[in-house]
Amino acid sequence: MQFPSPFHSRRKSIPVKVGNVVVGGEAPVVVQSMTNTDTADEIATAVQIAELAAAGSEMVRITVNTAEAAACVAGIKARLKHMGIDVPLVGDFHFNGHKLLSQYPECAQALDKYRINPGNVGRGKKRDEQFATMIEFAIKYDKPVRIGVNWGSMDQELLAHLMDANAQQAEPDEPKDVMFETVIRSALDSAKQAEELGLGKDKIILSCKMSDVQDLVTVYRAMAERCDYALHLGLTEAGMGSKGIVASTAALAILLHEGIGDTIRISLTPEPGAARTKEVIVAQEILQTMGLRAFVPLVTACPGCGRTSSSYFQELAERIQHYLREQMPIWAQKYQGVENMSVAVMGCVVNGPGESKHANIGISLPGNGEKPVAPVYEDGEKTVTLKGDHIAEEFQQLLDQYIERTYKQH
Ligand code: SF4
Repeated sequence: MQFPSPFHSRRKSIPVKVGNVVVGGEAPVVVQSMTNTDTADEIATAVQIAELAAAGSEMVRITVNTAEAAACVAGIKARLKHMGIDVPLVGDFHFNGHKLLSQYPECAQALDKYRINPGNVGRGKKRDEQFATMIEFAIKYDKPVRIGVNWGSMDQELLAHLMDANAQQAEPDEPKDVMFETVIRSALDSAKQAEELGLGKDKIILSCKMSDVQDLVTVYRAMAERCDYALHLGLTEAGMGSKGIVASTAALAILLHEGIGDTIRISLTPEPGAARTKEVIVAQEILQTMGLRAFVPLVTACPGCGRTSSSYFQELAERIQHYLREQMPIWAQKYQGVENMSVAVMGCVVNGPGESKHANIGISLPGNGEKPVAPVYEDGEKTVTLKGDHIAEEFQQLLDQYIERTYKQH
């Protein structure tokens, strides 16, 4: 019996080169993130960009909101280069981007992409002039732009215009639909304007971020039908902790499954003291668990239940997961395809052997009342049974040996 692939074919978008990364076309979905440091603090910003890049962010956006921030951008880029990091930098502009780009040419040159929010460019006639100025700088410095609409800062003049036009109709649309149309038109009309000014289609990425899961899906499905620009996906203001992760995953999974989206960012509010890199890990895990990309070996672990006698099983699962992520930058240089490896850490004999056999390497720990031994399986075969006080260390060694034996060295 044959089952069809669950994926819809990928939407065809025009590829855009951002520094050394390609967004759209046939390129894999790109993971990006944004700093939360003050860009005018050159060292702190460079350090956070380095952390995000080390975690796997393939593009990093920084806010360029003041003269002080703009003055630091080239220095940030130079510091990163000194550290051997060439992750593309995206400048996030609102309200004064036209001025900052003209007053700080080194900033305009150092950035790899400009993010322009059409709702925050200016009002009335000034809006068009200021937007045009930013596009002219993109053309002058040969940079792509993201026209990034956010429903929280949507173009109020366009909204009023579309609301008025809607009110004149014999059967007006729902106000929510007019709002969706405003967000989409703001992006598409701005992209058209940029093209009329001379910016190539292959220099334009679009986004229309919403904070509600169903709204985001509605808007992006329409965008995907109405244009072939590369699309940046993200649920804006996703929130904190599990809510932010779940909401972002729910929204992005639907769209990615339908082949929509060329780059993603997870807009998590970090818990106090938590690392900014969490948003990168979540983005990678969404893509990897959906089977779209592989970044780091994944651990399959059971939830545990009354059959697990202690927290040892959770500790081992956490230890292995941490070890895999920590080692991955070294392994990635050395072993081809190791990111596709699967590892199982299971709590008892009920599902332990079965799940461990399905993984490349797995361990089934003893549950309550079971003999205190932990069989290890490699490629479906039981290879050794561990016992005693050093099961974790021994399993880690077996993991290293498995990788050494299985994955071709670069
Ligand atoms: S594998 Fe065993 S310990 Fe884990 S959830 Fe299933 S029954 Fe419980």
